[in-house]
Amino acid sequence: MWCKNCNIETNEYLCPICGTKTVEDIPTEVYWCDECKVPVIQETNRADRGICPMCGKHMKYMSADLRPVFPEERLLLEMLLGKEPHEYKSKSVWASNNRYYINGHAVSLPSKLFQETNVDDIVAKMEKHKADNTYDFFDQNIEKFVLANQQRLHYLKDEAYAFIHEAAKKFDEEHIVLSFSGGKDSTVTADIVIKALSNPSLVHIFGDTTLEFPSTIEYMTSNSNGINLPRVSEKTIGKLKIPLPPLEEQNEIVKIVESVLKSEEEIQSLLEMEREIEMVEKAILDRAFRGELGTNCAKERVEF
Ligand SMILES: [Zn+2]
Ligand SMILES: [Zn+2]
Repeated sequence: MWCKNCNIETNEYLCPICGTKTVEDIPTEVYWCDECKVPVIQETNRADRGICPMCGKHMKYMSADLRPVFPEERLLLEMLLGKEPHEYKSKSVWASNNRYYINGHAVSLPSKLFQETNVDDIVAKMEKHKADNTYDFFDQNIEKFVLANQQRLHYLKDEAYAFIHEAAKKFDEEHIVLSFSGGKDSTVTADIVIKALSNPSLVHIFGDTTLEFPSTIEYMTSNSNGINLPRVSEKTIGKLKIPLPPLEEQNEIVKIVESVLKSEEEIQSLLEMEREIEMVEKAILDRAFRGELGTNCAKERVEF
C-alpha cells in the first residue's frame, strides 16, 4: 500500500502518518532515455529513479502513463501533422492522453486540427501509403522496450500470477473457463492465465455479440481449435489490425469523452469530499465515545 500524501509505503489501509486512505500500487512514472531512445517505467519510490537500467545515464521525465503507437496510427499522425509519409518510421513513437511522444519529444494535437483537417484527403493519403508501411522498426523498438522494462514486467507478471493462483484455488481446474473477447486485454489475460496455471487446454468462451469487427472474428477463429484456444504469440498480437472509425466520428467521440471526463472529475472531487467528511465524522464519534467533546456533562449521563 502507498500513501500519495506522504509518499511512503505501508501495509495499512489508512496512512499511519496522515490518516488518509492509501492506494494499492506504488505509483509509477515514465522516463525517456535519450541515449537508448527508449521509455522506462519506474516506481516513484526507487532509489535509482531516473537512471537508465540499460546505459546507466540520467533520463528525463516523460509522462505519468504510456501506450504504444502502432505503425497504422503513426502514419495517421504523420498525415494529420502534414509530415512526409513514414517520416517517423524509424522513431520511437508513444502516446499518453492527447499527447504523442516522438523520440521523447512531446507533440500535442490541438482539437482545432481535427476541425480543420480534410478527412477525405487524409483517407486518400492513408490508402496510398499504407502498402509501404512496415512493422520492422516497430517490432525492434518494442523488443528494446521489453528489455529496458524487465523489472516492471516481472513485477506485473508476479502480481498477476499471484492473483490468478488465489482466484483459481477456489475452483476445480475443469470448472475454470476464460472469457475471451478477441481484444488485446483478453488476449493478454488468456496468455497469462494459461502460463500461470500451466494449462494450455483451458476452455475459452467467446460471446458473439454480433457487433464484433470482422477482424476480431477472424482473429478469434484463426486461433481457436475446437473449443480450446492455443497460446497466442506476441507476433500474432502484433499483426492484429485495429480498425479506427472515420476522423469525423473520432472527433465526435473525443468531444463526448471529454465532457464525460469533466463530469467524472467533478464526481471524483465530490467523492473525495465525502470521504473526508466520513473521516471527520468518525473522529468526532470517536471523541464523543471517549467523552472528549465537552458535551457529556454528568447530568446527561445515562447509567446502565
Ligand atoms: Zn500519509
Ligand atoms: Zn539508456
